[in-house]
Amino acid sequence: MENKIQHILQLLNIKEINKGSSTGSHWFYGENLTSIFSPVDGEEIAKVSFASKEVYDKTVEQAEKAFVIWRNWPAPKRGEIVRQIGEALRAHKSALGTLVSYEMGKSLQEGLGEVQEMIDICDFAVGLSRQLYGLTMHSERPQHRMYEQWHPLGAVGIISAFNFPVAVWTWNAVLAWVCGNVCIWKPSEKTPLTAIACQQIISKVFEENKVPEGVSCLLCGDSILGEKLARDSKIALLSATGSTRMGKAVAQAVAARLGKYLLELGGNNAIIISAEADLDMSLIGAVFGAVGTAGQRCTSTRRLIIHESVYHTFKEKLVKAYGQLKIGNPLDEQNHVGPLIDKQAVALYLAAIEKCKAQGGNFIVEGGVLSGEVYTSGCYVKPCIAEVEPHFDIVKTETFAPILYIMKYKSLDEAIAIQNDVPQGLSSAIMTNNLREAELFLSVNGSDCGIANVNIGTSGAEIGGAFGGEKETGGGRESGSDAWRAYMRRQTNTINYSTQLPLAQGIKFDI
Ligand code: NAD
Repeated sequence: MENKIQHILQLLNIKEINKGSSTGSHWFYGENLTSIFSPVDGEEIAKVSFASKEVYDKTVEQAEKAFVIWRNWPAPKRGEIVRQIGEALRAHKSALGTLVSYEMGKSLQEGLGEVQEMIDICDFAVGLSRQLYGLTMHSERPQHRMYEQWHPLGAVGIISAFNFPVAVWTWNAVLAWVCGNVCIWKPSEKTPLTAIACQQIISKVFEENKVPEGVSCLLCGDSILGEKLARDSKIALLSATGSTRMGKAVAQAVAARLGKYLLELGGNNAIIISAEADLDMSLIGAVFGAVGTAGQRCTSTRRLIIHESVYHTFKEKLVKAYGQLKIGNPLDEQNHVGPLIDKQAVALYLAAIEKCKAQGGNFIVEGGVLSGEVYTSGCYVKPCIAEVEPHFDIVKTETFAPILYIMKYKSLDEAIAIQNDVPQGLSSAIMTNNLREAELFLSVNGSDCGIANVNIGTSGAEIGGAFGGEKETGGGRESGSDAWRAYMRRQTNTINYSTQLPLAQGIKFDI
């Protein structure tokens, strides 16, 4: 493993992990070294420097200085920098994707897919840099013109989760940059190496183009550093991705200073499988959704709500498919399921299984921790399936692991009610060939989630759409559509080109 990591770092041209480039990357002060372990084999893969208070203060100060310069670069010129970042990511796709897979434990395919997502959002942001449109309005006063324009906010803090260690950063950062902001990224303490790799890849582009130091900053650290960002009034917008527990803490701290936040939190995603579904297609969507990334996607399928008439048939198909799953090293393309992120995640998985059993769940595919030569990290678990009642507490809780809950329904109204009756509201889907069912599911009386799909599972999304969810998922939207507006402030401008000063609403004020 050590040689493999050295090889990847060489491909990425990273000579020293804790000695970065100059582009705002104050994380190179070689102090507070913390060991990072791969869930693939449990080996220590790096010692990473976590930021001290002094490093934090210097970084924020540098970011503030950079903002004053960067906001004056024309947006299309900022877009050109992002275009070059996309090119640099293309050049390093294979190595960076492999590193994502090593450090986080997702399959190599998914690691490469994550880097592709970064490239795609760069392409999107380049176009966006010429489309930061505001509206023009008709003034009620003669010879007046009214319009709105969008200005950057300042320093955008980005807190990311371990499961998408790099893509979520680009979803935020490249949009924030074309909008004229500077970014301070705090990656998950479980996956800082991929963040360092990204910072080093892009810093070359920044240096070549003489982008001011501080436009892209990286601070490695744990939740204490995240809390610091949340309390800091110099952080104009804090975009935080992670658990609902974290989101509630961040929201309170940012709200206390009346700051702006954007939250992307937990999901509890369901697929409704109708009597009129294509069951073979549904099977692929359900199984990939439940076991892909070992159930560690915010959009992972956690619940299947199955029509009673096809319940038995579909259950048999599921059990058969689970019997064919290969669990092992995620870098081996033969394997479908890799490890959980760490032993703490394994403990939460085991606890959820016990809770489910205690609440009356019936496991039709049993779970458990795998042991043996391939599984030395202790992080490999068996994807499992439980028959449950929708009201069980555990079914309403997001467990970040491959546990799938299945339940029956009679009418579509009942299925939609079950689907919506959880605290989270991220992703949802219906599998049906019936147009009326599909339209009802998408209507105001249907899914209450930020993402609602027809004949596609819950897992994964394209960058072109706005991504995010309702209720305890936090309400934020990132990535495509008009999500860029969250990174800017709106200003309404009225210009009087007459020789009078008429007041609004016809008010008379003679002096
Ligand atoms: P986590 O909440 O433990 O940590 C996420 C990040 O928040 C880390 O960088 C961590 O250091 C930081 N953090 C933790 N507590 C904090 C606090 N009090 N103040 C400030 N920062 C704090 O989550 P995780 O285990 O890394 O990721 C899994 C969770 O993330 C799941 O709930 C998943 O659904 C969610 N997630 C959501 C999305 C989405 O777009 N909705 C995407 C990916 C992951």
